[in-house]
Amino acid sequence: MMLKVHSIQSLGTLDGPGIRFVVFLQGCHLRCKCCHNPDTWDMGAGKEMTTAELAERVARYREYFGRDGGITVSGGEPLLQAEAVAQLFELCHQGGINTCLDTSGSIMNSRVKKLLSVTDRVLLDIKYTNDQEYVENVGCHMKPVLDFLQVLEDMDVPTTLRQVIIPSINDSAQNVHCLREIRDAHRNVDSVELLAFRKLCQTKYQSMNMPFPFAHIPEPTQDIMDKLTALL
Ligand code: SF4
Repeated sequence: MMLKVHSIQSLGTLDGPGIRFVVFLQGCHLRCKCCHNPDTWDMGAGKEMTTAELAERVARYREYFGRDGGITVSGGEPLLQAEAVAQLFELCHQGGINTCLDTSGSIMNSRVKKLLSVTDRVLLDIKYTNDQEYVENVGCHMKPVLDFLQVLEDMDVPTTLRQVIIPSINDSAQNVHCLREIRDAHRNVDSVELLAFRKLCQTKYQSMNMPFPFAHIPEPTQDIMDKLTALL
């Protein structure tokens, strides 16, 4: 099967455990105002690659993966190409390579369930902890994401919750408290990562002739990040 690929990072350390071959897929149905990768949105762009070709490229890096590493498929939104990602993960499993999926968790159907059955870990981007902020700043409701998390628990998929901390929007103790509640309510969630909002992507928006919706928001200080992480 074919996958629409935006880019590949051969040896990444930020997207899942250990050292990972990271495939960023093309296409996203959401419009997060903090999105770092607006160039992944257009489903019509990107490069087509077969699952076999990608699996063969991942296998070349196997010796670097060690015990924890493997492949991570990110985006864009990989659930839009769930059937082909499932095939890629099956091929990776046949080669003994660990599989990780980085997703917004906003789509659920039989193809997604099949994909989750061959996924060793999910990085679930819980973007906010209330519905109003989801609707305003993401373009979808929060309930599908919580339902997705419930499916992950039902299927026993180890899960890391991730959230970008954006000053004046979700940099509060109350937000972290909500994240803790979500973590504690699901036995498959074994870690939570808070990521600092960064504005490096502004140049991408400029080159695409689009306004960056959060241009007016400052990046969080290390002090804020440390305090919120300690609250976890
Ligand atoms: S889900 Fe990811 S790729 Fe899609 S708009 Fe949000 S941050 Fe960007």
